[in-house]
Amino acid sequence: MASCHGAAGHDNDAAILRAQPVRMIGGHPVGGYTGRYEVICRACGDDPCLSYDEVPPGLQELRGPSQSLASGLAALHEHIGLLDEVQCARP
Ligand SMILES: [Zn+2]
Repeated sequence: MASCHGAAGHDNDAAILRAQPVRMIGGHPVGGYTGRYEVICRACGDDPCLSYDEVPPGLQELRGPSQSLASGLAALHEHIGLLDEVQCARP
């Protein structure tokens, strides 16, 4: 499967970060959340209605999951090609 890290067009309309549900059944999270975060990108063919273990390995790799919100956001930003360079100019 082709890597789509930094893919143009996979912006916030297609890619989201969410709390990872234990399972998705009928489009709804069931059993609570794992405490981790996952990137879901529809432009890559992912489906937010599916559980982590129901998507193919390439999409599992994209999902992560990330251990923290901060690392999840970093993974999302990397995927949509948004650089994490925040430069605070100081004299
Ligand atoms: Zn994507």
